[in-house]
This record gives sequence, structure tokens and C-alpha cells, in this order.
Amino acid sequence: ATRSGGDAVRAYAPSMGQIFMRRFQLVTQFRQALESGQVRVHYQPKVALPSRQVLGAEALVRWRHPEFGRLDPDEFVPAVEATGLVDALTSFVLEQALGRVREWLDRGLRMSAAVNLSVRNLADEDFPDRVADALRRFDVPAELLTFELTESGVMADPARALPVLRRLHALGVVLAVDDFGTGYSSLAYLRQLPVDEVKIDKSFVLGMGTDLGDMAVVRSIVELGHSLGLSVVAEGVEEDAARDQLVAMGCDVAQGYLISRPLSEERFEAWLAARTVR
Ligand code: C2E
Ligand code: CA
Ligand code: CA
Ligand code: CA
Repeated sequence: ATRSGGDAVRAYAPSMGQIFMRRFQLVTQFRQALESGQVRVHYQPKVALPSRQVLGAEALVRWRHPEFGRLDPDEFVPAVEATGLVDALTSFVLEQALGRVREWLDRGLRMSAAVNLSVRNLADEDFPDRVADALRRFDVPAELLTFELTESGVMADPARALPVLRRLHALGVVLAVDDFGTGYSSLAYLRQLPVDEVKIDKSFVLGMGTDLGDMAVVRSIVELGHSLGLSVVAEGVEEDAARDQLVAMGCDVAQGYLISRPLSEERFEAWLAARTVR
């Protein structure tokens, strides 16, 4: 990155070449990683406000890499999204998530799972059929599956994304707009989309305690969401104060470290068990 003190700097910051090599490595290793169990799905609970009832969980992918250690999605999902491999990622997470919902149902728990989609899924006209097929195989009612999509994912190619979204919605799957408030045309386009839920971006929720502007943004998204008949979810709820403010605003659902961090399947089940005993 520098011309003068090259070596010293390189010890801290990887060069462009190193970053490129690592991305390349991650992409070439990804399918093998999926097949060999290095890639796992973690679950973060979503709870109703103010009751704290557990409504379900968001599925968040993790990669335990033999050389690089634990990788968070921000380190490999963008690279994977740039390739056709994202289909394999989404299918993997979808199957894992539906397996969870099936198990919960078998134990008498009606909870939903939320899966993150990427732009490519929204441009894939066969995707809704594959989802319908997966729902049938797991015998899970569509309303217990949520797909989270970002505004940029939809706006990348609205003409292709809209028919896909309409077909997913027609199946009865719940559609949520993720990271809401960070895009440009948010307000105008929300009305045009067949969505049921809006997730306030965590940057606003995290800032709420110290920044009146963030507080105002959160309040107006709750009001806007409700005026459009949507369920409003706040993510990044880390503190009691934020939770109390969200309750006062009438926000419907909370997700964040205050409730729980994303947990492995086993630890999520333990968390759930400890909670239902109480
Ligand atoms: P996201 O969909 O916005 O997911 C929420 C992120 O916020 C998660 O990061 C979660 O661990 C983190 N988070 C949750 N509660 C709190 C909190 O109280 N405070 C703070 N500071 N952070 C909190 P994670 O798991 O690292 O995921 C990052 C992003 O990677 C996700 O953002 C999502 O866009 C993407 N991603 C994760 N799993 C998948 C997947 O299976 N497929 C695709 N396409 N993308 C995924
Ligand atoms: Ca999400
Ligand atoms: Ca988000
Ligand atoms: Ca995000």
C-alpha cells in the first residue's frame, strides 16, 4: 500500500494483491467448505415487543476456515455473491433453516426462520419454484419462512426482481426489507414492493441513545412502516434503554445482543430451553 516504508506497513495491512489472492482462495474453496461441514448456520432470536415472546430466528452463516479461522459473512459472502456459488449458499442456508422450523414444529413450537437473500437470487426466475419445493419437502407452512432482502438487491434490477418477489409472496412466504433507512429511494419504493416487514438498520438503533437524529429516523420508520401495514423490526438492540424506547414507539419486534448474540444450532436450542423454563 505504500512506496516508502513498505515492509513495516505490509506486516499490518495486507496489500491489494494479498486481498485479491485471499478472495480468490475463498471462492475456490467455498463449495468444498459447504460439503465438508466448515460452513455452519447460526441463529439469532427475534422477539415480540413488549412481550418478549420468541417469534423465530434469523439464520446467519459462519465459516470455520482451516487456515484463516472463524470467518464472518462480511469476509466471504460478498466474494461468493460475485459468483454462481451464491445459489449453493442460499440453498444450504434455506435447507438448514427449514430443518430447524420442522424440528420446532415437531416439538409444538410455531417459530419462523429468516434467510438472507442476495441480488442473484432475486434475478433467478427459477428460485421461487425451488423454494416451493423445499417447503413441500420439509412440510413447513410458507408463513414460517421469511426472506430478508436489501433495497440495493432489489434496485440492482427491479424489472427482474419484482416478478420473483411477487411469486415468493404468492407462496405465502414473508418478505422483509433489510437494512432499511440506508438506501436512497427508501420511502418511495417501499410502497411498490410486496413486502410484509421492514427491518430498521442497526446503525440507527445503535445510535439512538446518543444521537437525536438516529432517534428521529427510528421513530419515523416505525410510523411509516405501520402506516403501510408492515411489521417493524429493530435490529442491533444492545441496551435496555433502546428496547424501552422501541416499546414506547410501538416497534413490533426486536433482535440484538441484548436478547442474544447469534448462536450455533446447539446453543440456540439451549438458550430456548432455558427461556421456556423460566
Ligand atoms: P444482516 O442481515 O444485517 O445481519 C445482521 C448482522 O448484525 C449480523 O452480522 C448480526 O450478527 C449483527 N448483529 C445482530 N445483533 C447485533 C447487535 O445487537 N449489535 C451489533 N453491533 N450487531 C448485531 P453477521 O452475522 O456478521 O452478518 C453480516 C451480514 O452478512 C448480514 O447482515 C447479511 O447481510 C450477510 N449474511 C449473513 N448470512 C447470510 C446468508 O446466509 N446469505 C447472505 N446472502 N448473506 C448473509
Ligand atoms: Ca438480515
Ligand atoms: Ca440488517
Ligand atoms: Ca447488513
